[in-house]
Amino acid sequence: MAGTSEGPAIGIDLGTTYSCVAVWHRDRIQIIPNDQGHRITPSCVAFNETEHLVGDAAVNVLAMNPANTIFGAKRLIGRRFSDPLVQTDVKHWPFKVICGAHDKPIIVVTSKGQKKNCTAEQVSSMVLTKMKKIAEDFLGVPVKNAVITVPAYFNDSQKRATRIAGCISGLNVLRIIVEPTAAAVAYGLDNMFSSSEEKNVLIFDLGGGTFDVSILTMEKTTFKVKSIAGDTHLGGEDFDDRMVNHFVKEFERKHGKVVSDNPRALGRLRTACERAKRNLSFMSHTTVAIDCFYDGVDFESKITQAKFEELNMDLFKECIGHVEKCLNDADMDKTSIHDVVLVGGSTRIPKVQELLKDFFNGKELCKSIHPDEAIAYGAAVQAANLTGQGNPEIQDLVLWDVTPLSLGISTLDDNMSVVVPRNTIIPTKKERGFTTSSDDQTSVTFRVFEGERPKTSDNILLDKFVLSGIPPAPRGVASINVYFDIDVNGILTVSAKDKASGNENQITISNVTGILSKEEIDRMLEEAERFKLEDEELKTKMDAKNSLERYIYGTRATILSKKLPDSKARILEDEIKSAIKWLDEQKVIEVDVFEKKRKDLESIWNPIISKF
Ligand code: ADP
Ligand code: MG
Repeated sequence: MAGTSEGPAIGIDLGTTYSCVAVWHRDRIQIIPNDQGHRITPSCVAFNETEHLVGDAAVNVLAMNPANTIFGAKRLIGRRFSDPLVQTDVKHWPFKVICGAHDKPIIVVTSKGQKKNCTAEQVSSMVLTKMKKIAEDFLGVPVKNAVITVPAYFNDSQKRATRIAGCISGLNVLRIIVEPTAAAVAYGLDNMFSSSEEKNVLIFDLGGGTFDVSILTMEKTTFKVKSIAGDTHLGGEDFDDRMVNHFVKEFERKHGKVVSDNPRALGRLRTACERAKRNLSFMSHTTVAIDCFYDGVDFESKITQAKFEELNMDLFKECIGHVEKCLNDADMDKTSIHDVVLVGGSTRIPKVQELLKDFFNGKELCKSIHPDEAIAYGAAVQAANLTGQGNPEIQDLVLWDVTPLSLGISTLDDNMSVVVPRNTIIPTKKERGFTTSSDDQTSVTFRVFEGERPKTSDNILLDKFVLSGIPPAPRGVASINVYFDIDVNGILTVSAKDKASGNENQITISNVTGILSKEEIDRMLEEAERFKLEDEELKTKMDAKNSLERYIYGTRATILSKKLPDSKARILEDEIKSAIKWLDEQKVIEVDVFEKKRKDLESIWNPIISKF
């Protein structure tokens, strides 16, 4: 565990669409604004000719450079390329994703004029580096320690990959915690440390592209996730899509032009629709206007809140269906839920709130925590707790998670033999006995799966290992114990021991194994370091250019303020103009060239100016 001496520890909500960072500072949790003053930062990375941009800066170039602007890396992290969800996503993304070694998705971009292959871990690490930098700028000291949140449905491989992204960004990941727990912590701190009775809380998290419902029980400062449900493809972007389609149809009908195959026009329309959607959370109607939308024709149309609701009603109702499922899984009735907590930007939609309130028989929803910030807030509380910072309430905090899916071993006939059932509270250690399936079998391959289906071929293969040296015996005689050990981070170790020989083997799942090899991670670390150096170098270059620019304009201001004879002023003004032209024409930025130019100009201009 990290101590206070190691400096501040931050909490990062690494979202699919937006990320948010918070820290315990000056006796309270503070959400840290980015360089634009925004309290959330788009989880977006753009590559261009000179550098890579992260956050708001990356979103700004999305329309110009869609093939090299990466968003939604969280959808890829820790997944295989052949995963059906990945297959659906890659078909819709404007950037290229290919299948790399070990079925790993690889994002292909053009960076600084060259093709570059990136993993989702690398892209996420760039977002994390940005969040780290935002915190460092705010606190004025280097930040090493962080708690990072992930969705409750993330499996072992996704959690490990997120941890790797943290490592690449130079963070010491104290713990990975799940988002609903983090939100509950934030909520708990705000609302209930005074009360001692047990409470059931439903967290309703509707974000940009995902919807997660979770039921937690909170007793004083202890939180347990009881059940989770949701949809990895349901959120704000779907509501935007519906509005885009509505307007495209309207435009095509009115003007007899086909817009649906023009990505640039659609991109602009989508941005306008997202803005309109936000407005409709607070206004009964709004206007969407785009100059020169398509083929020289402007776009202008109105949309009411009622129309927006009609366009999305089936999706909103789906959300309520998932709430019911979550209650069923937890074996709870809706009346046993004490509080319903709203998290995620899309919960600002009034109709969503109304449907949810109706479902809970008119119960008031908890909106006291900011839906965009609750998760980062809770992560920062946990970070402070783990580093011995914060107040006594924070120090008392205990968090419990559950396994989102069942974990087990493949047995004869491809059957899934569950060792750790779904929704088991972690940390946990479970044991099960196995045996050999043929006579004189001396080794057994254990394949570890995650999922709810009875056939392992329908579940997710996490890893496999071999236990050998089993003394020959008829089938069914050998007695092999298999242990599943899940630590506080939700990271799994599976081991097997043969009773007769005492032979043991296990899958050591550390931070640096899994789908990525040690070499791959080292390469990513090295690249991240190089990026850092390149960024610093670029900053030095830009500083040299800015300094020269300031000198030139400063000289012009001095000439104006001093009473130089007209003839001299005119000559100097011409020289200034040509210096500005020279500056504009420099395509390649070289510190030496700019410094030399500045010296040259100084040696000519300063003696003239100093005479007056
Ligand atoms: P994620 O957790 O997926 O990163 P967020 O929880 O930050 O995402 O939610 C982002 C989504 O919230 C976006 O789709 C955005 O359009 C939507 N959103 C933000 N503000 C509003 C609002 N006022 N009304 C409706 N939707 C909103
Ligand atoms: Mg979120």
